[in-house]
Amino acid sequence: MTNKGHYKCVIIGSGPSGYTASIYASRAGLEPVLFTGLQQGGQLMDTNDVDNFPGYPEGVNGAQLMEDLKNQALRFGSDIRAEMVTNVDFSGDIKVLTIDNKYKVTAQSVIISTGASAKWLGIDSETEFRQKGGVSACATCDGFFFQGETVIVVGGGDTALEEALFLSNICKKVKMLVRGGKMRGSKIMQDKALAKDNISVLYNTNICEIKGDDSGVTNVEVETIYHTYQKIKHTIESKAVFIAIGHKPNTDLFKDYINLDENGYVIREAFSTKTNVEGVFVAGDVADTVYRQAITASGSGCMSALDAERYLSEL
Ligand code: NDP
Repeated sequence: MTNKGHYKCVIIGSGPSGYTASIYASRAGLEPVLFTGLQQGGQLMDTNDVDNFPGYPEGVNGAQLMEDLKNQALRFGSDIRAEMVTNVDFSGDIKVLTIDNKYKVTAQSVIISTGASAKWLGIDSETEFRQKGGVSACATCDGFFFQGETVIVVGGGDTALEEALFLSNICKKVKMLVRGGKMRGSKIMQDKALAKDNISVLYNTNICEIKGDDSGVTNVEVETIYHTYQKIKHTIESKAVFIAIGHKPNTDLFKDYINLDENGYVIREAFSTKTNVEGVFVAGDVADTVYRQAITASGSGCMSALDAERYLSEL
């Protein structure tokens, strides 16, 4: 496979952490190359209103925020490539990365900012209707197709609440299924959702099977546990099921080299973005089990570029 270049700094991933790392690395003269991966812009591309990113007093659309960060990185000369890193070899001082299974590049330093991806329930009918239509992990992408219908949102975290709020503006009814007795999402989001007339919540409820035909989902069989610990199965008519049950860090690519915790998140040194491999740094949700905010991802992106710069200047 041809080697198409050697770089001081390669950044993998294009969420707030990757773009911020790129802004700082460019300004520090590291001439970074950033590989965006499949979902350019990362998770925020699926987020409607971001009200808590400092500097936007009126809030900002997630995709717009990512476009702004990307343009800021481009302004300082970042080389942003819509390609995927498909393999890495971190065994030597020079890191080797395979791009789109077609060619290689080498780098003196690497910043991992590959983020996290949506988790799925893992039942067969979910897989079936992800293909046929009607099961999605992105209300802003797919909600449009279910305008005026009754839909289900699975999960009780901030993502689920955000999905439910978005859907409540276009769907007739939104039924949230929460597997436990309470929601995990922030109080302010819960209050907002519960204030909506067309959002209802079913606690202690899990999906058993998603049913439908070739045109999509028609109803969902669920099981609710009542106070008596009695389990009752019932059916909910619904045209779509939005799964919002958290995320999995995108670290499969690195598992042979980088130390990961039991959930697959990258382990970094305290107060640093250093991983166990010299010259490989980490930023954003891929190493964050606690904060997981766009601004904390951005902050760690900045830290990773500063750490890479120090590492390179000491070489
Ligand atoms: P969370 O981990 O916070 O919540 C996941 C939810 O899914 C929980 O209610 C969990 O239930 C439920 N769940 C997990 N697995 C299953 C399963 N197999 N079946 C049914 N339910 C399941 O993930 P989120 O993606 O919601 O949020 C991640 C982070 O991102 C949080 O820190 C959140 O605050 C933040 N965030 C912030 C936003 C904002 O500020 N605008 C928007 C979105 C997210 P249980 O509680 O029982 O484990």
